[in-house]
Amino acid sequence: MSQAVDAVVRELLGPLLCAQSSGARWRLLSWDVDQGITLTLSRGERLLFVELSPRDDAGPAFARTRRFNLTARPAFTGGAPLSPEERAVVTQLAQLVAAREGALPVVARPAATRQSLVREIEVDRVLVAEGAGHYYINPYVGCMIGCEFCWAATNADLSRALEGLPELAWGRWVDVKVNAPEVLRRELAAHEPGVVRMSPVVTDPYQPLERKYRVTRGCVRELGDAGFSPAILTREARVLEDAPLLARCPGAAVGLSIPTDDDAVREAFEPAASPIEERLGALRGLAAAGLRTFVIVQPVLPMNPARLVEQIAPYVRAVRIDRMHARARSRHLYERAGRLDAMSDEFAAATEAALRDGFRAKGVAVDELDDLAAALAAGDAAPAARGSTSRDG
Ligand code: SF4
Repeated sequence: MSQAVDAVVRELLGPLLCAQSSGARWRLLSWDVDQGITLTLSRGERLLFVELSPRDDAGPAFARTRRFNLTARPAFTGGAPLSPEERAVVTQLAQLVAAREGALPVVARPAATRQSLVREIEVDRVLVAEGAGHYYINPYVGCMIGCEFCWAATNADLSRALEGLPELAWGRWVDVKVNAPEVLRRELAAHEPGVVRMSPVVTDPYQPLERKYRVTRGCVRELGDAGFSPAILTREARVLEDAPLLARCPGAAVGLSIPTDDDAVREAFEPAASPIEERLGALRGLAAAGLRTFVIVQPVLPMNPARLVEQIAPYVRAVRIDRMHARARSRHLYERAGRLDAMSDEFAAATEAALRDGFRAKGVAVDELDDLAAALAAGDAAPAARGSTSRDG
């Protein structure tokens, strides 16, 4: 996390950060600024995720303040609505933000530019808790793969705006947390071992810059040494290079995002990501290395579902299937693929149903609850991955 933005958010959420924890009340479990401002609130076993994104009257929101949209969802409940008590706590949070946002600096941003920018940044924290024994890490923020449908593009820009950095197109900037492995080593010593997601919500941990910086590799090494279980998700076949390292971590889980069997479609939607055949090859290699493997079919793109099931099922324990959530915004990509017909709800529903039926028929667990733990851990005592990987990112 950027230390400058951390300071801004500390100012915004001051009373919440200082509140004493109590099992009888909602408390702030963790927060970060990599993907907009995200907060995890907990009360006993219950978890509530709240996101602050730039104010957008056309966007979804539980509440809006002058500068922010607030969205909220209970964790790992498969999209259940907020309870009255959860609604009350998010309403209070919105009131806190509304009362304090006037004190936030309004930092002028230089004009938008078409340049690319890779920043090497030093961080003072990297491990984010998201429930008992569950954490996540973003080794990078930003992603040079730059899929145009990526959900992260808008939210990840919020931190850049708060820092007064120029607006850059998604795919043209990355912050490299160069000291993340070293900071992580200290943090792991102070936490209970558990599962640590390194999933592409604001980055892909194996994007091309990993070849140069090896921040993800360094973090995986630290996790293994400390007895933690990495849960990786990537669109890049180079994850296979780290199979020996991952295999040394207890209960490691590795997933590939594979949204179609058709590489011409992949070329239209995610031209900078690994070709489909390379991803399938990496999946086979990871499974052969004894790793617990899964696939996220997201966003569901034009495909032959039966063929994709045949290609994936022998090499995974679990899959998650999720559609394109910002289809109107991605219309030009469907046009580029010559598949405007695939924008319809009917296409998405039929393709998803064919995938679900096909995978289940082959004994592959299909995760419906945004919780891969049960699916991956079936018949297995090791801890498993949990967490949201279901957006267009
Ligand atoms: S979808 Fe994943 S790989 Fe594509 S730009 Fe977003 S984070 Fe990167």
